[in-house]
Amino acid sequence: METVRDAFYIDGRWAQPIGDAFIDLISPADGARAGRVPAGCDADVDKAVAAASRAFEAWSQTSPAERSGWLSRIQAGLKQRSEMLANTITREMGAPIAFSRRVQVASPLALLSSFARLVEDLEFESRVGHSRVLREPVGVVAAITPWNFPLRQVIAKVGAALAAGCTVVLKPSELTPGDAFLLADVIDEVGLPAGVFNLVTGTGPEVGEALARHPGVDMVSFTGSTRAGRRVSELAAATVKRVSLELGGKSAGIVLDGADFDRAVPAVVQACMLNGGQTCSALTRLLVPSRHYALAAELAAAAVRGLRLGDPMDAQTDLGPMVSQVQKSRVLDYIRRGREAGATVLVGGDGAPAGLNSAGAFVLPTLMGDVAQDNLVAREEIFGPVLVLMPFQDEADAIRIANDSPYGLSGGVWAADDPAAERVARRLRTGQVAINGGLFNIEAPFGGYKQSGNGREQGLAGIEEFLEYKALQFRKS
Ligand code: NAD
Repeated sequence: METVRDAFYIDGRWAQPIGDAFIDLISPADGARAGRVPAGCDADVDKAVAAASRAFEAWSQTSPAERSGWLSRIQAGLKQRSEMLANTITREMGAPIAFSRRVQVASPLALLSSFARLVEDLEFESRVGHSRVLREPVGVVAAITPWNFPLRQVIAKVGAALAAGCTVVLKPSELTPGDAFLLADVIDEVGLPAGVFNLVTGTGPEVGEALARHPGVDMVSFTGSTRAGRRVSELAAATVKRVSLELGGKSAGIVLDGADFDRAVPAVVQACMLNGGQTCSALTRLLVPSRHYALAAELAAAAVRGLRLGDPMDAQTDLGPMVSQVQKSRVLDYIRRGREAGATVLVGGDGAPAGLNSAGAFVLPTLMGDVAQDNLVAREEIFGPVLVLMPFQDEADAIRIANDSPYGLSGGVWAADDPAAERVARRLRTGQVAINGGLFNIEAPFGGYKQSGNGREQGLAGIEEFLEYKALQFRKS
């Protein structure tokens, strides 16, 4: 089923767009049409922000328990549509269907449940001497989200903002708006008060920028590229909005002497190639001791060769296409330029994959060796299935190379034991680090250091992101 929509969701009802522009959706697996959604303009954003502003007063006064109830009802409605959500995401951005079910859909559902639970534990009031300190919702939130984990990014913002007592205008990626419309269907069905959640689709320069500069928006929560995040910050500065940014990454998977290489190296390959390498926290640099370089190259090559690239609707597929032809060209260009700068392609490369639809945006999973630290493939976020292998001399050198990046989102350290890995992890300038393959935790704060952004999503920290402090001073304590 295609995503074919002709209205936005504003003020508790489906609202006709003011203009008549549309965006065609393309399935990256075969270039076929995947649907059509309206492209909003400034005036649509004005309507949505006005609705969110009107709804704020009453919504912000609801109790955490009431908001928790709403979130649980929304979660239940999404859960009923799990299969439709997974199919929509796979069709629009090409994630393998098994991965869409297991991660793209199941993880945001769990995240929404966690917000429903956590908001009831959050301390909205505390005492400091003769003051009572209140935590109040920041106001109207503009949520701008990318295409790579479309529903997850939407829920990380909308779920947490609603839990905090904020009202929301959501602008999802123009490449993957389908899941956001399904969320609006659910919100309409459960009868969330009008204006608390609003959806306007469109392009970044049009709808995204209108939201970032809008005087009625109190906070922008943005996930996407560093380039667009910078632009959002510039526009938001004019009205001194709070801006929370979740941006790119170039994270390192460090395998130290003494680690179990047979387990660690394939795990880094997996953490790089997940979702076709289109994961902000992907471990895209594999750092290994120079004396074990040959062994690591062999293990990594075997793991990359074992990945099945193919039709995303096939349950056996590990890697689907890139999200678009543009993204495919970008990734192939990186592979070429990385090679020209001295790197060797050990597996994969910029050739056409055999036996796949030539209209699909497929890129071979690729491993590159002989990668100098100043090679662009070691420095820039490629956002595709490309892993670079780099040697280090000792632990201090590994830490230095890992931190030698404008980004600081994630990382992984493998060592002989947890204390040895933790010692290195504590010195990485990143928002998350997996210790010896520790699993992702949806209640732990997620976000970046340096140019990977600011602010945190998930868990209590993710809800607190949308709160202001207010201090009431009493004459007696
Ligand atoms: P993108 O920056 O092109 O788009 C993200 C969103 O921003 C989209 O909704 C887009 O329409 C909008 N946008 C684009 N230009 C804008 C502008 N000038 N003003 C306002 N909004 C604008 O990013 P993308 O290609 O959709 O996503 C890939 C990027 O997202 C990667 O760099 C990736 O690392 C990053 N990402 C980060 C995280 C994280 O949590 N740190 C998570 C996922 C993706």
